[in-house]
Amino acid sequence: MYPDPDQLTCEPPSVASQSPEQILHEVFGYERFRPLQGEVVQEVVEGRDALVLMPTGGGKSLCYQVPALARPGTAVVISPLIALMQDQVAALRELGVRAAFLNSTMDFEQARATEYALTTGELDLLYCAPERLIQPRTLELLHHASLSLFAIDEAHCVSQWGHDFRSDYLQLSMLASEFPGVPRIALTATADERTRKEIAERLSLTEARHFISGFDRPNIQYRINPKTNANKQLLDFIKAEHEGDCGIVYCLSRNKVDATARLLASKGYTALPYHAGLSGEERARNQERFLREDGVIVVATIAFGMGIDKPDVRFVAHMDLPKSLEAYYQETGRAGRDGKPSTAWMVYGLQDVIKLRQMLEASQGNDQFKRVERQKLDAMLGLCEVTECRRQVLLRYFGDHLEAPCGNCDTCLNPPETWDGTVAVQKALSCVYRTGQRFGVTYIIDVLRGSGNERILQSGHQTLSTYGIGTDLTAAEWKSVFRQLVANGYLRADPEGFGSLQLTERCRPLLKGEQAIELRKDPVAKKSASVKAGNKRTGQNVRDQITDHEGWEALRARRKELADRQGVPPYVIFHDTTLFDMLERKPKTLEELGEVNGVGAAKLEKYGDLFLQTLQEIQRTESGS
Ligand code: ADP
Ligand code: ZN
Repeated sequence: MYPDPDQLTCEPPSVASQSPEQILHEVFGYERFRPLQGEVVQEVVEGRDALVLMPTGGGKSLCYQVPALARPGTAVVISPLIALMQDQVAALRELGVRAAFLNSTMDFEQARATEYALTTGELDLLYCAPERLIQPRTLELLHHASLSLFAIDEAHCVSQWGHDFRSDYLQLSMLASEFPGVPRIALTATADERTRKEIAERLSLTEARHFISGFDRPNIQYRINPKTNANKQLLDFIKAEHEGDCGIVYCLSRNKVDATARLLASKGYTALPYHAGLSGEERARNQERFLREDGVIVVATIAFGMGIDKPDVRFVAHMDLPKSLEAYYQETGRAGRDGKPSTAWMVYGLQDVIKLRQMLEASQGNDQFKRVERQKLDAMLGLCEVTECRRQVLLRYFGDHLEAPCGNCDTCLNPPETWDGTVAVQKALSCVYRTGQRFGVTYIIDVLRGSGNERILQSGHQTLSTYGIGTDLTAAEWKSVFRQLVANGYLRADPEGFGSLQLTERCRPLLKGEQAIELRKDPVAKKSASVKAGNKRTGQNVRDQITDHEGWEALRARRKELADRQGVPPYVIFHDTTLFDMLERKPKTLEELGEVNGVGAAKLEKYGDLFLQTLQEIQRTESGS
């Protein structure tokens, strides 16, 4: 489904000369700009540079799409993910916008046609992969076109400390000197202050005004549970709260992705794997099904979904710990872009901490790099072990601020108790010391609890003073103690592997009994009903609010039929929220339908009659029954 160049000339002429508000209303079908969106749009429309930081789902695309239509010439959008361009372009073309893309997936003829459309001024937006853009041939071409702006999406890719570094992005700074009169807007969802500075410097945007919107994603409920039986925990979670929903499950390794996808499939879920070990074809197919079908769960390594703008992902589950809060926030941010209640769920345990710490130490990279990575991992672990509101901790990390606890995270909904762990910690640390810092956690817990197992007897550790002094806690409770000790840096796992625990400098005052320590009591799993109550804060799931199920299904069927006919995902036709609004308002005329949120002029013209017809049928069945 490449944009058909022949069609380009038949599209309505560019809407240039309309005001941003008119464009917002008539092309996109939205009533008003979100806070900040309007300011960014104005800045760029007036020809100035901008650096935009908005959370995922915050509405970054409109920040350049509206100026692209308000200014004469073609806007060039640089986006790192080829897979997504196609849908973005399809969605724009649905709105009657003249959009196309240039990337390595197209053949010579297709590229030529798009290039021709560009130089003859027949494009409003051109999406382009960074590696394509920096080719001399492309630059030459751009010099022959009239350009309205450059939008650099996922701008954090320029940061070498970031998790998505792309060397092609470094070269984008030349846009400033090559095209001095063309405004540039850089956009990202994840950037702490350091990264932000780096983006500004590396993209020659030091003069640009910064637009930083709040990072909060109030509709996402954050939950982090200690890992007991991860597979069972995942199944219980989905069954209780997200049966039939679309979601993403992240795992660290390919093997685990495959195994988890099989597990979910065996329980009747449509679960598809996604990782670098699959053929490009299979990956593309699975991503496609995820975008187009209802209720698909993708099980993936972290590579999946960067920039995926599927609006109705209802949950993101982490089976393993991400290595930074940036990664966590970005991955969980793929949930709930439509603003409806969604869950970010994670299980994590001691082994995750050990594994990540070892991977980090074993990684290539200089000391400075490792130090930064270590700080990032510590911040991630900090979030896992907090007893205060998780959202407050997250937002603080990103330099944002939330006045009161959020009421929609697990620590708010089910506050964890703490206990005085001073004595237990002394026992644990001295047991590590006395066994020679050569053993892993299972063994040390066995010694503490006085187990008579073979290995202990062989090494003579039953004679140690710490043998059997820990019978007051269960093995699970000890595990929790050790997890917190490692997470908080009192113990470290042997970097050579094997997972043996060693004391760090930090634990000296604890060992000597000079410092008290409060530990988190791992919460006992509660019925998810109580957790679900938190969603009151942001209203309910669209689906839960629907009373007219037949009507809803009829609208969805109509949408699916149109989507299939055009080979696009259903949400490209209309979002759920738009269908919901239709069902609520029951418009009878095209004019009334045009007032529905998300119905712009092009869609009104293309689909208006069909949806009015469906709405009429719904009315008729209702009054008939
Ligand atoms: P981002 O790129 O920041 O993650 P998007 O640009 O994909 O976010 O926008 C997220 C969702 O919000 C989309 O469904 C979009 O249509 C919707 N949206 C954006 N701006 C507005 C607005 N002013 N009014 C209503 N909906 C909007
Ligand atoms: Zn909270």
